[in-house]
Amino acid sequence: MPGNDHLPLAGRRAVVTGAGRGIGRSIALVLAEAGADVGVTARTSADIEQLVALIKEKGRHGLAVACDVTDADQVQHMATTLLDGLGGIDILVNNAGNAGSHKFVDHPDELWHRMLAVNLTSVYYVSKAFVPTLIAQRYGRIITIASITSRIGGRYIAAYAASKHGVLGLTRSLATELLPYNITVNAICPGYVDTPMTDANVSNISSLTGMTEEKAREALAKSSPQQRLIEPEEVAAIALFLAQDSSKGITGQAINVDGGGVMS
Ligand code: NDP
Repeated sequence: MPGNDHLPLAGRRAVVTGAGRGIGRSIALVLAEAGADVGVTARTSADIEQLVALIKEKGRHGLAVACDVTDADQVQHMATTLLDGLGGIDILVNNAGNAGSHKFVDHPDELWHRMLAVNLTSVYYVSKAFVPTLIAQRYGRIITIASITSRIGGRYIAAYAASKHGVLGLTRSLATELLPYNITVNAICPGYVDTPMTDANVSNISSLTGMTEEKAREALAKSSPQQRLIEPEEVAAIALFLAQDSSKGITGQAINVDGGGVMS
């Protein structure tokens, strides 16, 4: 393997959830390029196996473990396997998530519970599985991909926005509790990002409104003051920034990556 001592994450071990596609995949690749060995997880084995091949091409150790992050037992198994395989963990990226929308009046309870489980309880389970190791070594970086809907509500997204608001409460509380152990805990709050999740959103808008998919995508882009979707690599760049030793003074923060839509 090529030497990587000069890289910012040389010798670090990272775990990225929801790494099979979209933002998580970009983050895993950027962390590997920066010198980290990377464990990746999602439910679809083929996606994460393919990603591991790319991580290995970069000269890093990569490991894939399939896991549904809404299932506490599967999370525990995933964590044990990745901790063994990587020899520990320094950087945890809670990225797995899913979006769903419905008007509130006849909102399905199933959707409410599913959004809370995949976007909020999953972050609790995964963080709980890795935090004891981070505390024991007195070092860690926890980065959670929240959303701009962690800051503001919106029509039809009561469950998604509630779950993502919850993620910030968890981030800030964990940041406070882990302060004595040299562990930082931060969140990133993107606006619409050009990923398969947004493709699904576009199809949904198109089928509900009769708008063409092109027009629906344009409407999402125009909801940002920059009139564009965010690229997954832009979110990955912030994750890399937060993952580095030099970001040790930043904790309990949430960084918006939304083209200037929300300025607080
Ligand atoms: P994608 O749908 O493109 O990718 C999501 C990834 O998470 C996939 O690899 C998926 O794999 C995995 N995943 C989903 N559910 C589970 C589960 N139950 N257990 C394990 N893995 C799961 O999403 P994005 O990349 O767009 O989003 C990533 C994160 O960013 C999410 O938390 C999302 O809420 C957030 N975000 C996205 C925005 C956007 O506009 N795209 C905007 C703001 C925030 P698999 O299905 O194989 O399990």
